[in-house]
Amino acid sequence: MLVPHQSPDGDAMGACLGLYHFLKKIDQNPQVISPTDYPRYLKWMPGIERVWIYARESAPADRLLERADLIFYLDFNTVSRTHKMREALVRSQAAVVLIDHHHQPDTFSYVYSDVGMSSTCEMVYHFISKLCSLESIDKEIATCLYTGIMTDTGSFRFSGTSPTTYRVAADLVERGADGNEIHERICDGYTVQRINLLVAALQNLKVLAGYNTAYIVLWSEELVKNNYQRGDAEGFVNYALALAGIRLAALFVEDRERGRVKISFRSKGGFSVCELASQYFNGGGHTNAAGGISERGMSETLAYFESLLARYRGLLYAHP
Ligand code: 5GP
Ligand code: MN
Repeated sequence: MLVPHQSPDGDAMGACLGLYHFLKKIDQNPQVISPTDYPRYLKWMPGIERVWIYARESAPADRLLERADLIFYLDFNTVSRTHKMREALVRSQAAVVLIDHHHQPDTFSYVYSDVGMSSTCEMVYHFISKLCSLESIDKEIATCLYTGIMTDTGSFRFSGTSPTTYRVAADLVERGADGNEIHERICDGYTVQRINLLVAALQNLKVLAGYNTAYIVLWSEELVKNNYQRGDAEGFVNYALALAGIRLAALFVEDRERGRVKISFRSKGGFSVCELASQYFNGGGHTNAAGGISERGMSETLAYFESLLARYRGLLYAHP
């Protein structure tokens, strides 16, 4: 069984589907079960129509989980990132293989964790090469793995992109991944609603020049008005980070129904948003990209965030 984190992104789904196609090739009987639905910009991925969504199919998923002898956790470090699937996963007697590049993974039967890796998909590539041979990577596997590497590196521009990342990507292209087509499918699939949501987001951009910080707010009215679908706000935080001189960027998305705010953090240089997210917002992630949750209302969350910045003033100002 292959499990990505809740609200899976290109890396989580790419790792699951890449490994899924590989395991099928070596005569295993894998099933991908995602805790919650995936964003529509991934709907074209090879094999995605065979993925089960736990939130919709929990009964058959539970039955399968009971019989599974091996579960892969892909692109997350703690079982609390599996939404309502958590209980069934904890109950399962199956051995767990974790392949992940987030900080501070929990303990599992087998752990392949490397925070220096660009993506879980790059790790799955190395995993397949050690377990079997790169010759087993066909066009489908290459397409899935390339997708995750491309999305998690922001098209090969984030700091985790190493010389090896480029080599792996080049090899995947040689094995059938079409980099140009994948980029187009992921990045040029905006709906008019998503563009309108981006307009609203950019109008809500706030710059705190004294802290080299910028953030964007999306209120629930704006989400409703623009028919918000899962994944529609993905990448918006990078507009705040694209401002000259900004070292810390955040995106706050209001979820009024659940009475909470989902936060995305990004940074440049040594400022660790993983630490910020885990210490104050019940979250985590990587040094330069992390996420968290706030149970306070939006206005209070923003005030709290701004008050925290004073503690980091030295750090944020030290890297102009
Ligand atoms: P994003 O801002 O794109 O949702 O997430 C950025 C990074 O932080 C991703 O690697 C993601 O896995 C991680 N992340 C996002 N939200 C959370 C969260 O609530 N808890 C933890 N532990 N990690 C998160
Ligand atoms: Mn990832």
